Amino acid sequence: MPQQAADLVILGGGSGGYACALRAAELGMSVVLVEKDKLGGTCLHRGCIPTKALLHAAEVADHARDGANVGVLSQLIGIDMAGVHSYKDGVVSRLYKGLQGLVKSRKIELVAGAGTFHAPDAVEVDGTVYTGRNVVLATGSYAKTLPDLEIGGRIVTSDQALTWDSVPQKVVILGGGVIGVEFASVYRSFGAEVTVVEALPRLVAGEDEFASKLLERAFRRRKITAKTGVRFTGAKQANDTVAVSLESGEELEADLLLVAVGRGPNTTGHGYEQAGLAMDRGFVTTDERLRTNLPGVYAVGDIVAGLQLAHRGFQQGIFVAEDIAGLEPAVIDEAGIPRVTYCDPEVASVGLTEAQARERHGEIETLTYDLGGNGKSQILQTSGAIKLVRAKDGPVVGIHMVGARVGELIGEAQLVYNWEAEPGDVAPLVHAHPTQNEALGEAHLALAGKPLHTHG
Ligand SMILES: Cc1cc2nc3c(=O)[nH]c(=O)nc-3n(C[C@H](O)[C@H](O)[C@H](O)COP(=O)(O)OP(=O)(O)OC[C@H]3O[C@@H](n4cnc5c(N)ncnc54)[C@H](O)[C@@H]3O)c2cc1C
Repeated sequence: MPQQAADLVILGGGSGGYACALRAAELGMSVVLVEKDKLGGTCLHRGCIPTKALLHAAEVADHARDGANVGVLSQLIGIDMAGVHSYKDGVVSRLYKGLQGLVKSRKIELVAGAGTFHAPDAVEVDGTVYTGRNVVLATGSYAKTLPDLEIGGRIVTSDQALTWDSVPQKVVILGGGVIGVEFASVYRSFGAEVTVVEALPRLVAGEDEFASKLLERAFRRRKITAKTGVRFTGAKQANDTVAVSLESGEELEADLLLVAVGRGPNTTGHGYEQAGLAMDRGFVTTDERLRTNLPGVYAVGDIVAGLQLAHRGFQQGIFVAEDIAGLEPAVIDEAGIPRVTYCDPEVASVGLTEAQARERHGEIETLTYDLGGNGKSQILQTSGAIKLVRAKDGPVVGIHMVGARVGELIGEAQLVYNWEAEPGDVAPLVHAHPTQNEALGEAHLALAGKPLHTHG
């Protein structure tokens, strides 16, 4: 078999794989990046970017519908899905082009094809073996479904929902996690009747309970029905409808069923098991430096158990490139990775939930600042709150926010958490008025014992 050698061979060109390739090339390594579909992976083509474009279109629809609330006479006449898709696809294709240019400019060898992990130092693609001193596995994840629930027709995952050519009148969403609530938000803004079914007792169950409560309240106001603590038992398609049955005996009729029950690691069929790679429930097992059990072989992104987020993949990719280059980067603190759910209202957090902080730090203090006291939030007509969690007399260990656009506040929040700031360190920092950012400043002022615009 023909052979080609490089310093580094990367299997998978999504967020984790391409970030690793870019950083490794910057550090002077020769890099082969193997991608069977499109450079950019899930995030760029079927995840972060297209869904956020839909959410932006949804926001515009809400503004058109609600213009009269601020004295602007406007009307939502309808949603032209072809127009929405062309806007969304335009965003994706511009970023795709930019990314291709970036990879080319760093002289990374992009190999198109499905790769098989052959040996700890080799990946085979269509009969050519690419060897490297190091190999990074970054094959990503896929949308899961439930046993006996076949995807097809009007039963879709986020992959098909992203190209659906009409707005459903009634949609049932199975799963109240990040992807489920983001789509719920889009469909509702586009005018659909939306029901979210979640087996766990609350929406966005990975977040602090405070955030779930506020989101559920806001969804109720938006007339999005959330059925939590309810199990799905089956779905049947007939003509133009899907009948969804629940354990409670209830049956819901919809014209679309979106299955958003999580994402599984894409680790089968690439030779991982045959090569002796250690795995646990399908995820590749790594140590905190992302090293697998095989010498010189690393894994990054959604195939490594933990938060399935693009920026985690980027950071892991950068980390691995630097580790290989001997720069000894600091281990990534998983809790320090910011998390944003871009539904309306947004949910954003970093650090520990109150329950986790109690477990880790024993005595803690919390403070909740209502966005009702924040001028910019009033202008935007959003409600919500910011909750801070600190270790008793110590640093802020968790920040949780709910409200329109609070995702934009996560930059400062993550600095506070990752720099282990105490409320007293943040309190003297001036926040511009009127911004929503001010609410974060006010929350720290209050927790430092000198509240400004805080009642009681
Ligand atoms: C609907 C949706 C919305 C999301 N929104 C957000 C968001 O707003 N923010 C956020 O941070 N994250 C978001 N995510 C998650 C984010 O997309 C993933 O965490 C991220 O893409 C993971 O990167 P990765 O590199 O591990 O895998 P992927 O991006 O999945 O990339 C893996 C790549 O490997 C390739 N590949 C697989 N097997 C082979 C093989 N044998 N040979 C060659 N190539 C192969 C695939 O084609 C793919 O391109 C979202 C995901 C979805 C589905």
